[in-house]
Amino acid sequence: MTRTISILGATGSIGASTLDLIRREPGKWRVVALTANGNAADLARLAREFSAEVAVVADEASLPALREALGGSGIEAAGGAAALVEAAARPADLTVAAIVGCAGLAPTMAAIEQGRTVALANKEALVSAGDVMTAAVARHGTTLLPVDSEHNAIFQCLAGNDPAHVRKITLTASGGPFRDWGAEQLTAATPAQAVKHPNWDMGAKISVDSATMFNKGLELIEAHHLFPVGLDKLAIVVHPQSVVHSMVEYRDGSTLAQLGPSDMRVPIASCLAWPQRMDTPCEPLNLAALGELSFRAPDEARFPATRLCRQAAEAGGAAPAVLNAANEVAVAAFLAGQIPFTRIAVMVETMMTRYSPSAPAVLADVIGIDAEARAHARELLELA
Ligand code: NAD
Ligand code: MG
Repeated sequence: MTRTISILGATGSIGASTLDLIRREPGKWRVVALTANGNAADLARLAREFSAEVAVVADEASLPALREALGGSGIEAAGGAAALVEAAARPADLTVAAIVGCAGLAPTMAAIEQGRTVALANKEALVSAGDVMTAAVARHGTTLLPVDSEHNAIFQCLAGNDPAHVRKITLTASGGPFRDWGAEQLTAATPAQAVKHPNWDMGAKISVDSATMFNKGLELIEAHHLFPVGLDKLAIVVHPQSVVHSMVEYRDGSTLAQLGPSDMRVPIASCLAWPQRMDTPCEPLNLAALGELSFRAPDEARFPATRLCRQAAEAGGAAPAVLNAANEVAVAAFLAGQIPFTRIAVMVETMMTRYSPSAPAVLADVIGIDAEARAHARELLELA
């Protein structure tokens, strides 16, 4: 049976991994929408290869290039924020939400409103919107499948169990490329060093988030919404090998963990095939060759991000959206060489103490808070 699929953020790392799996199942999928920010040439190439119904660039300035690259193909070309939402709203059995940042929120919500299945990689959207998104999921009867490897692991470990029996959920963190660096060294960390992750091959923004540990902090907030067992039951452990992707401990003392290679095609495949299973080309785990798995407590003195994210989750309301916006602006500034690595967390903390808008009730509120928080964060950058 052919299933229809849309991929928001098709030209990114998660997009490429998803399309790699789809390519291996000819005839199984029909592609509705593929989207990108501005990379018209890559997007057009993918749209042609997968015979997409529509290709959309979020950046309208790239639309002429997209139109030209798709000339004669019969594939619709569109551009701009409204076109992105319109494409995400087109009926598809499965939508993979893989845009990076809060920029993916409106199209992800449009996909959720279809009431079908959304495989969510775009954690910033859920972190920012929180209850606004989970309420939409419930209202529309949507199935939300977590792509993020930790949440996908937890989702698998919870299957068939009553969440009421959960004692603890532990997210594993690789610790990123700087996990063994001293405080002095961290102040001098460069963008090139930060995007070189030891275990995973990912987009630049999430790679920096892994280096600061904001990725794990955002994932804590993500887990808080996906698995509402209470913040006090969510823990983080550093596990440098990235083999155990997360764990669920039950009241009887049993801990269930999901293990796998550090290749996002494994959790993506779990979403594509759910509730079935499918083959992937990933190397199977070889535990004897690995020899050892190690675990240690996170160091919040060197990496304050997880503490800040926990505070934002506890505060609720607009706090996570403010934290996320501040982090997005700070990461972009760090990648552009404007601020030192350690300033990212400082900026986020400053924003959280100085700016506390009231809680969002609807999508437009979240988008407004995000925009305003970004403007405030940029002002902070200029003052420095
Ligand atoms: P990426 O930078 O490789 O790709 C991002 C995609 O989003 C691209 O297609 C890009 O064109 C598009 N995009 C960027 N800015 C946009 C904008 N303003 N408007 C519309 N589209 C835009 O990122 P990635 O590593 O694939 O990550 C995507 C999401 O998945 C992130 O939220 C990330 O946290 C999450 N995630 C990624 C991984 C991973 O291994 N890469 C793992 C877990 C979760
Ligand atoms: Mg993750």
